[in-house]
Parts: sequence; C-alpha cells; structure tokens
Amino acid sequence: MTAAASKKPGDPPADPKVYGWCPGALRPMMSGDGLVVRVRAPLGRLSQEQAQSVARLSQKHGNGLLDLSARANLQMRGIREQAHRRLIDGLRELGLVDDDIGAEARRNVLLTPFWTPDDDTHRIAQDLCQRLTQASDLTLPGKFGFAVDCGPLPLLQDTAADIRIERGSEGLILRADGTDKGLPITSATAADAALDLARWFLKSGGAPSGRGRMKALIASGITLPRGHVAGALRAGFRPAPGPVPAGLLAALEFGQIDAESFAQLAAHAPLRLTPWRMLLLEGVSTGVTCSGAIFDPADPRLRVTACTGAPGCPQALSPTRQLARDLAHSIPADSKLHVSGCAKGCAHPGPAPLTLTATARNRFNLIRNGKAADRPVKTDLNAFALRQTPDLLTAKD
Ligand code: SF4
Repeated sequence: MTAAASKKPGDPPADPKVYGWCPGALRPMMSGDGLVVRVRAPLGRLSQEQAQSVARLSQKHGNGLLDLSARANLQMRGIREQAHRRLIDGLRELGLVDDDIGAEARRNVLLTPFWTPDDDTHRIAQDLCQRLTQASDLTLPGKFGFAVDCGPLPLLQDTAADIRIERGSEGLILRADGTDKGLPITSATAADAALDLARWFLKSGGAPSGRGRMKALIASGITLPRGHVAGALRAGFRPAPGPVPAGLLAALEFGQIDAESFAQLAAHAPLRLTPWRMLLLEGVSTGVTCSGAIFDPADPRLRVTACTGAPGCPQALSPTRQLARDLAHSIPADSKLHVSGCAKGCAHPGPAPLTLTATARNRFNLIRNGKAADRPVKTDLNAFALRQTPDLLTAKD
C-alpha cells in the first residue's frame, strides 16, 4: 500500500519540502510567480532614494510586489529570470548587494529597528556585518543568523536567531539561542565573541551535512564554552502599529506591499525594515495616509496571517490570502487566524489559536491552538462554507 493510500482523513498533511536555505539577491529562489530576490539592506535601513529606486526596480523587473520577511529582509517578487542580472546591477548601484553569495549568506544579522546612530546596537551590528563579510572560511548553515538587540527593551526575543547579543541585567551579553546563560561582553568585544561562538557551533557538530540550528545543539545537552554564566532573561516586547519614539510603524497586510505604496511611504522618510511585518518611518509621528499600510492596532486585518499560497508558492495546495481577508472581520479581537497553503506553516511557524491548513484547492483542516502541521479538530472544510459560516472556526464540534 502506498503512503498516500494509507492516509486517513484526520492525518496531518504530508511533509512539505524543506529547502534548508534562504533566497538572497545573488541566489534567488524560483517561486510560482517568478524569482524571489531577497534584499538584505545594510542595518535594515533604506534611505528615501534607495527605497524609491527599489520600488521602481520591482515594477520594472518584477510583479511590483514586495514582501517583508520575518528576518526583516525585503523580498522582491515575480522577478523575470532574464531580468535578474539587470536587477542586480541596479541594486548594486544602490549599495544593496554583497560581493559574493558566501558573504551575502553569512551577513545574516538582524538588529533592533529602534537603534540610534552610534548606540551599542548600531556599533556592534556594523562591526559584526563587516567581520562576517570578511570571514570567507566560515560556512554556516543557510538559515543560521545573528540578532543584535541592545536597546533598553528587548525587542527580538520572539524572532529566530542562533546567536544573540543583548542587554542582560548586568550589561551586554552574548547568548546562544536555547539557553539563558550568557557571556559578558562589551561593544568592542561583541563581534569577535559572536564569531568565536559560531565557530564553536560548527566544531561541536552543530551542522552535520551543513544543516542545523543552535537551539538544537543546546538541547542536546552540550556543555557551553567557558564564561557563559547564568543570567536573567528579560521578557520580550512587541510594538503595535502607530507612533513610537523612533517614528511611525506601518503594518503591512500579510507582510506585503505594492511598489507604489512603498514609494509613497518612502516619500515621507527613510524606511527601517522590522521583523514584525511592519516598516518604521524614521522620525515621522503622524500625517501619513497610505492604502497599502495599516496604522491602527485594532484593524481586523492584523488578526489574520497567511502565507503566499497558490499560485505564488509552488508547494501551495490552495489560495490562502483572500480567504484570510474575508474571514478577518469574524475573528475575535483577542484571537488570531493563520491560513496556510500547506503544512509547512511559513507565515506563522509557531502555534496559533486558529489555523486553517490547506489539504487541496479550497479545502482546509482546522487546528486549534496548534501549528499548521498539527492534528486537526475538523477536516475537509471548504472555503465557501467557511465564508458563509465563519462560526465553523470557533464552534465546538
Ligand atoms: S506554507 Fe505557504 S508559502 Fe510555505 S511552502 Fe507552504 S504554501 Fe508555500
């Protein structure tokens, strides 16, 4: 009997394909709507001129849609294969492309979007990016990343990173993801210490066959290098759309924005990319309207998340976003709905109060308080019935 034939209706969908690497600008990934070209803006910031040029390049060489990734990278979608070289030339002129694929992959540094010039976060991130770019002997797994989060409030605790530089109760610390122990550091020693910890990860067998994450290595019970001492972790904080001391946070529906709206926002101020599917308009407080952005934290669109789905993602079993959009007003203010085109759950890898995972075109399993691949409480719900009777999501069986 084949695996497909032995599958029962309540079983989670088959394992989706895992690539184990992330697209970059120099190594784009093919998707259902063309190439995805990921731009890793230096220090997560685009000047007004850079942002407006990126918008123009997206319209010229792609489908004019831009995604903001969970690691604060900008993804240009629908890029035509034959236009990739010209796009890279354009991005290079803007200072948004690394010299080679290796440097682009290593420079996977996320920093708190609220950094100020010459503060600890800014200095350490600059230093770390420079060291990583030069460290051509360091071959880290594709998704291995660093987070620099040294402001007064921890902002990146919920964002994936393997090596973290943050502020502990006694000062700056370097911390391997998965442990609350940290190595005391200073802003001058942080970058070297981070590279040493990355090398320790590789030497300790953290990446057999080139894949692996720090959290898994720590969970194996390995002894940390000398100097990592117990320290109290501070609870993370996640800001809402609207004004913040550093500027104005503009949320993007499904983390996506069209090039025209992107340029419209950039007309007001330089843009900082955040890992929260929001753009920070540097130094702006009010007076911005843009149909492609959300400034009200109570907007129902913020209660739903959905991945690209079909036809944009080749692995998708169904379209996702229109269904999420249609159901948004039915989701209680204290709840969240995640609509996933397959069991991979890219748009929300953790558990959500409500998850609809596609099993076929416009057919979904419902999972409560779980992840996209978890066992459903209801199976084979069709999108039409969900739109007609959204209570299906919350009603007891
Ligand atoms: S979760 Fe969505 S975006 Fe991710 S692989 Fe599945 S269909 Fe594609």
